Amino acid sequence: MTYDILVRGGRVVDPTHGRDEIADLAIVDGRVVAVGPDLDGAAEQVIEVAGSLVLPGLVDLHVHIASHVAPGAAHAMLARAGVTTALDLSGTAASVVEEGARSGVGLQVAVVEQVKPDVHMPRNPTRPQIRAAFDKILAAGGIGVKLHVDKGWDADATGAIIDEANRHGVWVASHCGTTTAGSDIEGLRQTLELAGDNHIQIAHVNSYCRGDIETADQEAQIAVELLRASPHVFAESYLAEINGTSGVCADGVPTNKRVIGWLERGGYDGTEAGLRRAIHEGFASVPRLTSDDMILEVGDAGVEIWEAAGTRTGICLPINPGISRLMLGASRNADGRFDVHAFATDGGGIPRNVTLEMGLSMVDWGLLDLRDLVTKACRVPALVLGLPAKGHLGIGADADLAVVDRRSRKPSTVIAGGRVVLRDGVAVGTGTRFVHTSHGSEHVERVAGLGTVIDPVGTGFYTGEGIAA
Ligand SMILES: [Zn+2]
Repeated sequence: MTYDILVRGGRVVDPTHGRDEIADLAIVDGRVVAVGPDLDGAAEQVIEVAGSLVLPGLVDLHVHIASHVAPGAAHAMLARAGVTTALDLSGTAASVVEEGARSGVGLQVAVVEQVKPDVHMPRNPTRPQIRAAFDKILAAGGIGVKLHVDKGWDADATGAIIDEANRHGVWVASHCGTTTAGSDIEGLRQTLELAGDNHIQIAHVNSYCRGDIETADQEAQIAVELLRASPHVFAESYLAEINGTSGVCADGVPTNKRVIGWLERGGYDGTEAGLRRAIHEGFASVPRLTSDDMILEVGDAGVEIWEAAGTRTGICLPINPGISRLMLGASRNADGRFDVHAFATDGGGIPRNVTLEMGLSMVDWGLLDLRDLVTKACRVPALVLGLPAKGHLGIGADADLAVVDRRSRKPSTVIAGGRVVLRDGVAVGTGTRFVHTSHGSEHVERVAGLGTVIDPVGTGFYTGEGIAA
């Protein structure tokens, strides 16, 4: 037998098949066809990976890769982080499909679109108005919708949109909070109440545990208890210390009120001058786009970019406490299952694609083992997205994998769909294969080529596969 690719001599970690051993892995036609020590057979391409980990490609169900976020760079940033499948959690669907066609590096991508009052539907929408908004998003290639605290939905509208999504069988994600609860532990509590028995993706659980109301560790414990009481809900958290927010100022103060509080907590004035000093001293950082990366600048360089843009840049602030990130990343219920089901990044074009880096650090601390990391970063999210051939490395699996240097905690080689998309740390793939519903086939195929059709009703998001005990 002649293989397309033979990945030779790495430590293959695949909890789905109980495998953690030095082995070779052979690929033909985009599938894993053999795994085991010292495979026989010739290969068109042999990749020697002795000393490295061979993990399933990461499935990151919370990224931002629409055309206005790091244009030309976001897909490469994902590949460099070992991600082979991603869910954009804002859209627009049209913009993600367009950018994927233009600057894709060979990954699989799905998108849910953030719905905004008076844009997608009225502030107090009727059920038919909600359904009409869903239909448009699905036709543009999306698999569902996202709610966001900053968009100003009230509790009634939030509950109605979640419920209608469940009745209609589309995906629904929430950055928790409404007009009557913030993006904090009370917002999480309210969103879960509004969801009731309905399914929902709770975005970045750690971001509601920043110590705004109780201490960060108390909030993490409350979040775990809330999630245990809603076992049908899918939850993800990220491991980065920084957030991503707006650096825009008007009349001498940040326009996002939360930025004011974050600056004050860091010991800076909650003003434009305070933000300038925070950038200068390295507390706040300013993203700078290169041809294939988004780099965070501080000091004079950071201030210069921010001022040249008239403050209209993003900024990142170190506001996610380590204790809640670690507790939510490692917490398990009495059956040994993770309370927060998956690692995601809220990254993509936002430079915090650190699941491997920080997840391997958690392994070093003894908080997780390698199989746990693969379960949370690869296998569970693959099942939740309804792609059972991903997130593992058994015979017949999609040939999506990351070869990871254990010491630098970074991938050297990434293979997606049986093609090398990252070589020596450089993204070399092209195009994007979209994961969409049958309603989006026509549009996606025209703009980005053949995709993978899913029905959210059949994914773990609704069936509970990967989530429920
Ligand atoms: Zn996000």
